[in-house]
Amino acid sequence: MSTRILIVEDEEPLTMLLRYNLESEGYEVYAAARGDEADTLIREARPDLVVLDWMLPGLSGIELCRRLRTRPETRQLPIIMLTARGEESERIRGLSTGADDYIVKPFSVPELLARVRALLRRSNPERVSNLLSAGDIELDREKKRVSRNGKPVDLGPTEFRLLEFLMERPGRVFSREQLLDGVWGSEIYIDERTVDVHVGRLRKALNHGHAADPIRTVRGAGYALDDRFGKVEKSA
Ligand code: CA
Repeated sequence: MSTRILIVEDEEPLTMLLRYNLESEGYEVYAAARGDEADTLIREARPDLVVLDWMLPGLSGIELCRRLRTRPETRQLPIIMLTARGEESERIRGLSTGADDYIVKPFSVPELLARVRALLRRSNPERVSNLLSAGDIELDREKKRVSRNGKPVDLGPTEFRLLEFLMERPGRVFSREQLLDGVWGSEIYIDERTVDVHVGRLRKALNHGHAADPIRTVRGAGYALDDRFGKVEKSA
């Protein structure tokens, strides 16, 4: 499953340059030339990181960034802001809108690639780790083993991939279509109901003898690994 990056930039040559270089690094790249287009694309493509230009037609980069930070599902979305302005006050304004990093045009492509890698590492260490954990569930990618509360959980290969996909992005809601793309791949045609069947099997295997269900069904939207799952609620 490759990491998805969305470029939001109205200068087409720059978009092409960034797309080429990011794709060479193995990222799946999406692009939008307008702020409002980007907003829609973020809901649909669910990128892992956004490279966002400051000045855009439709909706400015700053305004888009603000909007993304007010929505729970995009509050944590890593954003690198691009801007031609270098003044200190502008920098502060850029960061206070919620961007995680900031790069001034003109910049070198290797510099941007390094920032992208650093931000992805910082924002989601799970993506590069062999051992994923969520609450009392542990998943070992290398050994293909899953345990809950220290006891082994027997999963089929599809359920394993499904759990791995969800554990990489705790809290994020995925539609059945996105799960099909991410777990089965977009090349093959599988009925969306197949997702429900496998989620059902995964739940059954994980929840055997346990009280809390870590998988959240979001009506009309899809499924997520509950990011509150396993956290100790502190009572006042
Ligand atoms: Ca621009």
